[in-house]
Amino acid sequence: MPSQAQAHTGSYYAATVNQVTDYAPLRGAQNADVCVIGAGFTGISTALHLAERGYDVHVVEANRVGWGASGRNGGEIIDGISGKAKITKHLGADGERIVWEMGWAGHEIIRERVETYNIQCDLKWGYLDVAIKQRHLRDQRSEWEKLQKHDFPYEHRLLSRDETIATIGTEAYIGALLNMGNGHLHPLNLCIGEARAAVSCGATIYEQSPVLKIEHGDKPRVITGQGSVTADFVVIAGNAYHFIERQLRGNMFPVNSYIIATEPLSEQQVAVVNPKDVAVCDPNFVLQYFRLSADKRLMFGGRCNYSGDDPEIIKKTLVPKMLRIYPQLADVKIDYAWGGKVGIPINRVPQLGRISKNVFYSQGYSGHGVNVTHLAGQIMADVIAGTSERFDVFANIDPVIIPGAHTFSNQMVSLGILYMQLKDRL
Ligand SMILES: Cc1cc2nc3c(=O)[nH]c(=O)nc-3n(C[C@H](O)[C@H](O)[C@H](O)COP(=O)(O)OP(=O)(O)OC[C@H]3O[C@@H](n4cnc5c(N)ncnc54)[C@H](O)[C@@H]3O)c2cc1C
Repeated sequence: MPSQAQAHTGSYYAATVNQVTDYAPLRGAQNADVCVIGAGFTGISTALHLAERGYDVHVVEANRVGWGASGRNGGEIIDGISGKAKITKHLGADGERIVWEMGWAGHEIIRERVETYNIQCDLKWGYLDVAIKQRHLRDQRSEWEKLQKHDFPYEHRLLSRDETIATIGTEAYIGALLNMGNGHLHPLNLCIGEARAAVSCGATIYEQSPVLKIEHGDKPRVITGQGSVTADFVVIAGNAYHFIERQLRGNMFPVNSYIIATEPLSEQQVAVVNPKDVAVCDPNFVLQYFRLSADKRLMFGGRCNYSGDDPEIIKKTLVPKMLRIYPQLADVKIDYAWGGKVGIPINRVPQLGRISKNVFYSQGYSGHGVNVTHLAGQIMADVIAGTSERFDVFANIDPVIIPGAHTFSNQMVSLGILYMQLKDRL
């Protein structure tokens, strides 16, 4: 069996992963209360919530725990839910409050799990939402006003251009909103730690076990090449890597996002580039994000007009973007380059729903997955336990479906990205 590091070739996270547990593949006919397909944040969070409540949960993963986007992402814990304007509108009078509360719920779940299960994942609080245009400053002011209105308990402050330069050592931005309630972490180590926590609460995990088919019925059966799990409920948590149920394709684009990590920066460089150790993200649709790792590498992410995984091509595309922000890092070596797939629904609203009465799914969080997957796991556990209030918020919003979106995603994504890039320039 390959080690986690082999399974995540190229990623900084794989190279710095904590001790990895190998889980045996699924063999033979198994029974469970709930079978979860996919061991990313959505699947593991669902399993942990359920196992904590006493359910017998079996998780079936095609590759390794955290192999997908959850083990490769920017690690930025960013508040909010994508598509929030649509969700708020759909909910009417109470919408603003409900969406606000849900937009922060994942943070508390992460905070609580890291503490309860003593998960070593370099969790740090602090985040900078940077502004490129005047309209971004206006958006940030209204975001700051919302934080004030809700008596937000963590430090939050609008920064002038000079304060922004002092905080992140670049003249690329005209201001920022500092929010110490958001933060960053090592996502693969969080996912692996949560998987171990789920197992400690009684969950079973199978790796290297691609699910080939779900047999629907009163007791759905999840089938792999060498085994099956028959359960009362199934939760599909394959997100942008999902390939089994046809009706879940076509309403979400699997978009590639990429990250480079420099060699560790010197103390002097860190003192200029990010002395407060905050995560940073710009407000564009085709956005760029960066932060320091625990060992002080600059991790810089964004989109490339490329859909493969050749580190040299990723470096060639992302390094010039990084140097536009930090020209002073021209001589710094790039040690890692990797990518992964983000699930972006066409209407941007996360997709939590059911295929049949006992087969649920949760996917499509766009760039807010670290936070919202943790909320989604709790909502999945709630709906299985019989409480569907928050589940219905999402399930009642019809997805926008584009035939062929999954199959022809590269071409469609390229067109979509071009459109979004033009919008970002306005
Ligand atoms: C490069 C990159 C940077 C990102 N940066 C951020 C960020 O900074 N902040 C943020 O909030 N979000 C970020 N995201 C988004 C975030 O990572 C995702 O939204 C989130 O991890 C999705 O988690 P998931 O568990 O739903 O899916 P995944 O983590 O992709 O897991 C799905 C799992 O399902 C498995 N699977 C699929 N089909 C099957 C099958 N048939 N049988 C068995 N298993 C199956 C896959 O092998 C995979 O392990 C980023 C994503 C990427 C790719």
